[in-house]
Parts: sequence; C-alpha cells; structure tokens
Amino acid sequence: MKTEKDSPTRPDRQDPFHLPRNIGKHLKKCFDAYSSQDRRAPSCVKYLWLYVENASRASDDKRANARALQLDDWLNVVDEAASLGAHCVIVCVQAPLGQYPDLWRLCQWAQTPHDMMVGLYSGGTTFEDVDIEAIKLLDLSRLCLFVDKKYVKTVKKAVAHEGIAVCSADVDHEEHAPPCSMPEDIICVGAEGNLYTCGLVLGNEEFNLGNVFEKPLHAVVEDDSLPRHVPADVPHNGQKSCTACPPLMAERVMRQGAQAGGADQPVG
Ligand code: SF4
Repeated sequence: MKTEKDSPTRPDRQDPFHLPRNIGKHLKKCFDAYSSQDRRAPSCVKYLWLYVENASRASDDKRANARALQLDDWLNVVDEAASLGAHCVIVCVQAPLGQYPDLWRLCQWAQTPHDMMVGLYSGGTTFEDVDIEAIKLLDLSRLCLFVDKKYVKTVKKAVAHEGIAVCSADVDHEEHAPPCSMPEDIICVGAEGNLYTCGLVLGNEEFNLGNVFEKPLHAVVEDDSLPRHVPADVPHNGQKSCTACPPLMAERVMRQGAQAGGADQPVG
C-alpha cells in the first residue's frame, strides 16, 4: 500500500530559459544513466506510456471482466516500469483533467520517488485554474505539458507565466511512420490495464501484449514472441496517430532544452 508524500515545492524559476534547460538536462541525465545500464539485460525499457482516460475504452470494454485500473494499480505499474529502467512517462488524458483526480498523485509518484520525467498530454483544449494549481504542485523542472499543435500558443499563454513548459504533441508523417522499432523501449498501458505495442495500435487486438492484472511487465518485455515493433503495413489513421509518442516527445524536449541553453529564444 502506498503512502501519501508531502507536496513538492516549486523550484526556483528566475530566468525564462530555466525550465526548458532544466528539463532537457534532466532527460539527458536519465539517458546517460540508462546508457550505462547493462543493455544485454533484455528487460530494459526507457519509456512508459499511460492512457489513463481513455482512448482504449471502446475496445477494452468488450473484454470480459474488464475493469479500470485504480490509483494503486497505476502506481504499481509505475513502480514496475521504473524497476525495468523507465525514466520518462507520458500520461495521456482525453477528458478534461478534472475528471481524473488521481492524475496528480500518479504524476507525483513518477517524479518522486522514481525521478522520472513526466509528460502530460491532454486531448482537451483548456486547462482550468484548478488544473494549473495542481500542475504547479508538481516538480516543474521534470514536467512538460503536451498539447495538439493548434493549441500550443493558447496553452502557453495561459501557463507560461507559471513556469510550466509546453510542447506540441503532434507527430507528422515526415517525422515518423512505420516500420517502427521504438516500441522495444516502450511499455504502453490502456485504462483497463491492457498492454499494447505502442499508442498507434492502442485497442488493436493484434498488438495486445497482455494485461497488467495477468502478468508482470518484465514477462512482457522479455517475451520475444510478442510484437514489440510496428510493421510498415500498419496504417496511420490520420495525422494524429503517433501523437505524444514518448521517445519523440523526449527528443523534442531535449532539443528545446538545448536550444534554450544556447539560443536567444526557447522554441515551442
Ligand atoms: S506511436 Fe508511432 S512513432 Fe511512436 S512507437 Fe508507435 S509507430 Fe513508432
């Protein structure tokens, strides 16, 4: 059983490039730590991708006895993924953030004690004041909000003065398309605990790797018979298919951090 921790304090944010630079540095540190691990160990993963609510519900609800993960279940998933090497988690919420009150505890748990970089993707267009207040209680030096490209300006305007980093979550075809081997580094979990190769194939039974209630994560990542890549013939259903893909988002944040450290303006 997990215990509640004290709320984190807000980091010092004097200079406007402090956050992008710090987030980029933190990710770099995580990558370096990951690189120094024994890569011969088949269980190493880098990224955790959580769909807490709920692009997968339509398909998952068809499964007998499907039940949504509760907070403790999510925390256990984070624990296990961290033990396998995950240093970055992207949490996707399709509904207004207020509909998922456990979200903040989940993000905090990934940051402390697991020292993960947290990306929060909201399919919603707005952040309520109460959401912004909750976000501010997280460690902002290890947090980035991801939103659809068309909303980046609006969201930045709403939260930038609070020191909250914002990036586009869009992934263009030019940026990436199958075949894709990046899922080898990803653990992707739907709201009912179903594990998928990655977010592109969320809800696709062909790429269902099992369920967190049925087997531990290490059994999934060590099972060579499971599909841990996306073949070229898997269609992208529109432009947003790879939205918020963790390795691409981490690369974007690192790039932004590097530019903030060496350029005149941070990029968005
Ligand atoms: S979401 Fe797209 S880019 Fe990301 S791992 Fe899957 S296929 Fe690759």
